[in-house]
Amino acid sequence: MKLSDYDIQFVKGVGEKKARLFNKLGVYSLENLLHYYPRKYLDQSKTVSVKNAPVDEMVSIRATMITPVKESRIRKGLTLYKCNFSDGETVIHVTIFNNEYAARALRTFDEYILYGKVERRFTDAVMSSPQIESVNTGLGIHPIYPATQSLNSKAIAKAVRNAFDKIGVVEDTLDDEIRKKYGLCTLDFALKEIHFPSCTENIEVARKRLVFEELLTLQLGLLLLKGKRNVRNNHIAKKDFSEEFYSLLSFEPTAAQKRCVGDCVSDIMSESNMNRLIQGDVGSGKTAVAGAVMYTMIRNGFQTAMMAPTEILAVQHYESFKRLFEGTDIRLALLTGSTKASEKRAIKCDLIDGNIDLIIGTHALIQNDVEFKNLGLVCTDEQHRFGVEQRANLAMKGDNPHLLVMSATPIPRTLGLIIYGELDISILDELPPNRQEIRTDYVDSSYHERIYKFIKKALDNGRQAYIVCPLVEDGESDLLSAEEYANSLSQGVFANYSLGLLHGRMKSKLKDEVMQKFSDGEIQILVSTTVIEVGVDVPNATVMLIENADRFGLSQLHQLRGRVGRGSEKSFCILVSDNQGEQTKERLGIMKSTSNGFKIAEYDLKTRGPGDFFGKRQHGLPNLKIADMVEDIQTLNTCRVCAEELLKADSRLDSHPVLCDKINEMFKRTDY
Ligand code: ADP
Ligand code: MG
Repeated sequence: MKLSDYDIQFVKGVGEKKARLFNKLGVYSLENLLHYYPRKYLDQSKTVSVKNAPVDEMVSIRATMITPVKESRIRKGLTLYKCNFSDGETVIHVTIFNNEYAARALRTFDEYILYGKVERRFTDAVMSSPQIESVNTGLGIHPIYPATQSLNSKAIAKAVRNAFDKIGVVEDTLDDEIRKKYGLCTLDFALKEIHFPSCTENIEVARKRLVFEELLTLQLGLLLLKGKRNVRNNHIAKKDFSEEFYSLLSFEPTAAQKRCVGDCVSDIMSESNMNRLIQGDVGSGKTAVAGAVMYTMIRNGFQTAMMAPTEILAVQHYESFKRLFEGTDIRLALLTGSTKASEKRAIKCDLIDGNIDLIIGTHALIQNDVEFKNLGLVCTDEQHRFGVEQRANLAMKGDNPHLLVMSATPIPRTLGLIIYGELDISILDELPPNRQEIRTDYVDSSYHERIYKFIKKALDNGRQAYIVCPLVEDGESDLLSAEEYANSLSQGVFANYSLGLLHGRMKSKLKDEVMQKFSDGEIQILVSTTVIEVGVDVPNATVMLIENADRFGLSQLHQLRGRVGRGSEKSFCILVSDNQGEQTKERLGIMKSTSNGFKIAEYDLKTRGPGDFFGKRQHGLPNLKIADMVEDIQTLNTCRVCAEELLKADSRLDSHPVLCDKINEMFKRTDY
């Protein structure tokens, strides 16, 4: 039986009730249990003598109990148990509080390991409430598992031991040749040593193997996914209509835009399906690229769907494509969470009947009951919000449509390979002409007066401004802070201007209204939490003020900043922070000195780690259990190469069944 099919409840000592507690930790099978790794270890492999024990440090002492336990009731609810131990040289007095069970278990003249801190009172050595274990089981390095109150670390360790007893030797996923080539120990050794290390050195050896295995599995999974997507193109575009699309635009596309469109068009005209990511900095004009590809598909007789992560963005795309396609016969529709039920029904019918060429929407679009007549292309915008899973769901729609994904989050190349492992990448690395550099400054809050004055001047000149609210700390309410802040501004400095508020908890309909008003120029200042981060386009907005700038990741600041500088007017971004730390100064200094999103992302990666990219699980990758995307980046690259080699030799991994199981297990949540 496969380890992944063996239910945890049948492991000796677990049973139905405990199994449920294991389930809560994400452990359902033997396989899960073996990969439920210790968080850290308790090293009791080395003992010290009482005499040599350092003060105030946790130590293990090997000692024999020399006097029976004496019980004394101090007061109601507090009972002390006292007894003496000797390490053969020195006596140590041990006190146990309230734990009758532990005290009763001790036997005079038995040898134990006492783990705790040695205190010295006059000439006596004392230990309060040490962890006491029999010398048979107490010595060694003990695993500490992430546990819960009802399922403690020891119980988990016991289950793991029983699991090993049952399995015997764990079957290896890698053959000897690969193991030798990459200097890896066997899986059996790695698993046993990671749970119950025989020495500290072995933990590293084990970890190396398990990290490799995990990252190799990840890479193989993504590459297989890419291969699966690499299906025969049954939505072949016969003719390229991008030039015709360009003639609808009010501007000339940049060379980079044309190149990216070219990549896509040759994909959709080729023998196999398109799976492409367009990665371009904010404002680089990704919408037009998508437009050209969608237009070409539509003109070739296929339906096209475009998905945005937020309602505001979906509406904005819809509005701008409606305008663009005004004089054409292209039929488009908008489908979001707040589309009225009756309208939704009508749209769904039209989609099945083929009366809609272009549907734009939020993930309401990937719901099961939305069907198409001949969906040829799915385009997702601001892709970092969609996980691999959603990407996969989308691709399942229709009959293997082409997939075009757009991301404005510049991601360092190494990370891009992982997150978008299954996609081909085109980089949109040129901004449209006449785009002015955005001037970025950072100041402390004593500059508020001056900043407000500056904003007023811009407004008086007919421009608009964004003010990004202070980012709230955990527990504070962003709603309150945003509302309070907006109120104080609209009653104070900006009393004579029209001001709008946008925050995450507003109903999407209201959000749209506010955004629309800002877009129409009815609202001059948009006070907002970070909901504007994603892709909203108002070229007349030229000033952005960001409060508490130090609390944001640089990539996020960069995204925010990208909301201005979209027209031909000079634009400004003012970062306010009272944080005087050197790191803050350096980080905000980077924002000032460069507008290159890729550079900023690299810096973020180096200084803050990949949290901003991998945090919040926005990437939608499977959860990793042992590998660390920063520390193990080297291994990741090695695994990429190894995965490619393996697949080259055996494209479906037929000769690696155990590895296949691992891949299926890792990508289980997504049925590709
Ligand atoms: P993003 O890549 O951030 O999605 P958009 O597609 O929203 O950028 O484009 C930003 C702005 O630049 C839009 O107002 C768009 O009309 C404009 N734009 C796009 N391409 C060009 C171009 N080649 N020349 C001039 N303006 C352009
Ligand atoms: Mg965009």
